Amino acid sequence: MSHLTEAQRSAIEAVLTQELGKLERSMKVSEEAARPVELDQTAVGRLSRMDSMQSQSMAQNLAEREQVRFALIREALERLEAGTFGLCSGCSAPVPFERLLIFPETPTCQACG
Ligand SMILES: [Zn+2]
Repeated sequence: MSHLTEAQRSAIEAVLTQELGKLERSMKVSEEAARPVELDQTAVGRLSRMDSMQSQSMAQNLAEREQVRFALIREALERLEAGTFGLCSGCSAPVPFERLLIFPETPTCQACG
């Protein structure tokens, strides 16, 4: 069973849920920005095609990172639900609450992470 107290678990659940909501909102923005470069020159405005392709690829990188983080947070919430949250996925050691609070989506302890 989890080494965390009920209060610690709900504190972490609150952080995870909040982060998930923030990510959902910013993922919508990033997906918008990562859309293929608009070919209509009038829509591109002052940006040269090169500039807009560059910012599109930056937006894609960001969108990918956000998707990875989103999946990690979802998994962390599932572990909370299942009661396995807080145990390192590498060595099964209890991960200290302080680390969990700072990196609630991390599945490993400091040594394994
Ligand atoms: Zn470990």
